Amino acid sequence: MPNRIKQEIDRLKSERGAVILAHSYQPGNIQDIADFVGDSLELSRIAASESAELVVFCGVKFMAETAKLLSPDSTVVLAAPDADCSLAACMSGDDLRQMKNRFPGAEAVIYVNSTIDLKSEAWSCCTSANSIEVVEAAPSDEVIFGPDRNLGTWVAENTNKKLHIWPGGCHAHSGADIRDLREKKAEWPDARVLVHPESPSVFLWEADQVLGTGGMIKYVKNSTADRFIIGTEEGMIYRLKTLFPDKEFKAAGNIVCPDMGYTTPELVLKALESRGNGIEIPAELADRAAAAVRRMTQTG
Ligand code: SF4
Repeated sequence: MPNRIKQEIDRLKSERGAVILAHSYQPGNIQDIADFVGDSLELSRIAASESAELVVFCGVKFMAETAKLLSPDSTVVLAAPDADCSLAACMSGDDLRQMKNRFPGAEAVIYVNSTIDLKSEAWSCCTSANSIEVVEAAPSDEVIFGPDRNLGTWVAENTNKKLHIWPGGCHAHSGADIRDLREKKAEWPDARVLVHPESPSVFLWEADQVLGTGGMIKYVKNSTADRFIIGTEEGMIYRLKTLFPDKEFKAAGNIVCPDMGYTTPELVLKALESRGNGIEIPAELADRAAAAVRRMTQTG
C-alpha cells in the first residue's frame, strides 16, 4: 500500500475519532491497517464497547449492520458498500415467520450472518463461536435454526435440543472439495486440521477440531503442533501467519469469499473522508434485532 494512503488513513482516523474494524477474512493489507481484527463475535463486542464517533467496517454488510445495532450513536460505514454475504441472502424474515407457524413453541436462533429482517424475528442471534451455547440457552426444547445448514447440522449433533434447520449455505464454504483437504493431509501428515462449521459435514468428520475463527486462534496458541491445515476462508491464513510467524499454515482448499475481497485501502480512505454509505437500520426492526444481537454477545 502506498505510504501516502496509510498516512492519510492515520491522520483522518484521529481527526474524526474513527475506529477501523476488520474481519479475519479480510485481505492482508486491510488487516494491517485495522485497529481491531477479529471474528463476528469479537467485533460485535468491540462495537458495543467502543464509543467511536465513526466506525469504518471492513467486511460485509451484515457485519456493519450488527455494529450499528450495537453502537446506534456511532456513524457506521461499510468500507466496500457492495460487499454482501451469499449466506445472509438465503433466508428472509418471511421464511422464519412461516417456520414459526409450522413449529409453534420452537424459539428461533439465527446465525449473525443474516438480514436485519430475519434477526428481528429471532429469539437470539449466534455466531459460530457460541452457536451451541445459545441453542442450549434457548427456553424451548425445539429450536428453529438458520440460515446455515452445515452449521445447524453440527450444532444439532452437539446438543440435546431438536433443531429445525433452514437449508441455506455459504457459497465459499459449501463449495469446498474434500479431495483438496485429503491432498493437503497427505502432504502434511503431522499437521492438525482445523475446520469451520460452515464447511460440509465431510470436512468436519476429517478434522481434528471444528472451530470458529476466534477458536482457531486460541487453539493454535495453545497447541504444541507446528503445522496446521485450515478449513475456512483464505484471509484467515494471513491472520494466523501474522499472529504465529513461527508456525506453518496451509489452506484446506479453495475457500474464497469474493465479497470479502472487495475492500481496498483506497475504499477505507474514501469512507473516512466522506463518511458516506452510513448504515441505516429500519426503525420498526431496530429494537427487536438489537435485542437478538445483544443476547448473542452476552452468551458464551
Ligand atoms: S465467507 Fe460465506 S458466510 Fe462469510 S461473508 Fe462470505 S459468503 Fe458470507
